Amino acid sequence: MEKIRTLRGFRDIVGEELEKFRRVEAVFRGHCGILGFREIELPVLEKTELFVRSIGDTTDIVEKEMFTFTDIGGDSLTMRPEATAGMVRSYLQEGLHAKERMTKVFTMGPMFRHERPQKGRYREFHQIDVEVFGVKEPLVDAELIWMIRMFLGELGVEKYRIEVNSVGCKTCRESFRGVLVDFFETRKGELCEDCLRRLERNPLRIFDCKNEQCIRVTGDSPFLFDSLCGECRDHFELFQGYIEDFGVSVETNKRLVRGLDYYTKTVFEVTSDDLGAQKAFIAGGRYDNLVGEMGGPATAGIGFAVGVERLVMLLAPLSGKTEKRCFFAHVGDQARGRLIPLLKASAARGINLLYSYEAKSLKSQMRYADNLGCGFVLILGDDEIQKGVIVLRDMTGKTQHELPLDPEKAIEELERLNGL
Ligand SMILES: [Zn+2]
Ligand SMILES: [Zn+2]
Repeated sequence: MEKIRTLRGFRDIVGEELEKFRRVEAVFRGHCGILGFREIELPVLEKTELFVRSIGDTTDIVEKEMFTFTDIGGDSLTMRPEATAGMVRSYLQEGLHAKERMTKVFTMGPMFRHERPQKGRYREFHQIDVEVFGVKEPLVDAELIWMIRMFLGELGVEKYRIEVNSVGCKTCRESFRGVLVDFFETRKGELCEDCLRRLERNPLRIFDCKNEQCIRVTGDSPFLFDSLCGECRDHFELFQGYIEDFGVSVETNKRLVRGLDYYTKTVFEVTSDDLGAQKAFIAGGRYDNLVGEMGGPATAGIGFAVGVERLVMLLAPLSGKTEKRCFFAHVGDQARGRLIPLLKASAARGINLLYSYEAKSLKSQMRYADNLGCGFVLILGDDEIQKGVIVLRDMTGKTQHELPLDPEKAIEELERLNGL
């Protein structure tokens, strides 16, 4: 029979990579706790409309990349392609806007996008997502970037760049749209088909195009940054001042436009040259109109997402195992009778006692212990039982000790002798 395999772009995460995942999550949880963020678990499946309304119907995500299907009840459902939409939905559904002046939340888990899989990009991928609702002041924009730096520092990630930009508000975007359309009209012949469509519907999206010729055209285009309204300009200047006070170095990249419609004012990306083509591994920004557009009261918002798969690629190998493990080699029924008490005594002290489930010869058990990489072996046979001891053998130094037969005392002695 043909074996069933994972779907294209989906995979099992195992071994050291999984350990790195867990480390990233643990370090992040720690920082979120210190800075007063609450964790939420969100559903993976939501109404399609949630994403269409929040992300925007002219974005690549909504147009081409969502795992959308009709369930047996006839409803259109989507596997979440990102977390912010669900966060906003939850914020409103839980009525947090009425209960708190400010809400700081985070979540982590799998997201789904139907993209062409490549190194570091999967159809099921993991994000850590942070959101702050209810703060208009640019101090929080800077605080989030400082938080990212602390987090990466603790993980030992040092080679990265933080790029920032302002994509303005509705006012500046309206006036810029005209400037932009005028510019692209003069270069229409060089744009790809997608971009010609974008020119009609949402010319700002042209900046997201990966087509080389389009990139060349956008390189000559005027920047939204240069037509920011007074309020947006002030916001960005204050933000830069706070960033300086936090002592974080960032670069202003006027070309940076996040691929989602809901961003306003500050946007940012953290990139690393060690990641190849897909350089960004953290991205975020402000979305001061989104809560209102999702049917809530006008509420400022800002957040970012960490691409866990890509971040994990930047982590150094984890240092040596600290796991406490020992093998119990036993021969004969009497010795086997001691297995369960020894197992319980080791587990109580946090030691992983390995053994053979089947009765095997001592030689074969020793070989097995060696394969498992156990540094120590407890040996028990009829002779040892008669003498009232358990033999402890060090696999490398070939030294040998006699431990008491009593399981509690034996494990206690094992710990003392080997610094386990
Ligand atoms: Zn503005
Ligand atoms: Zn294009």
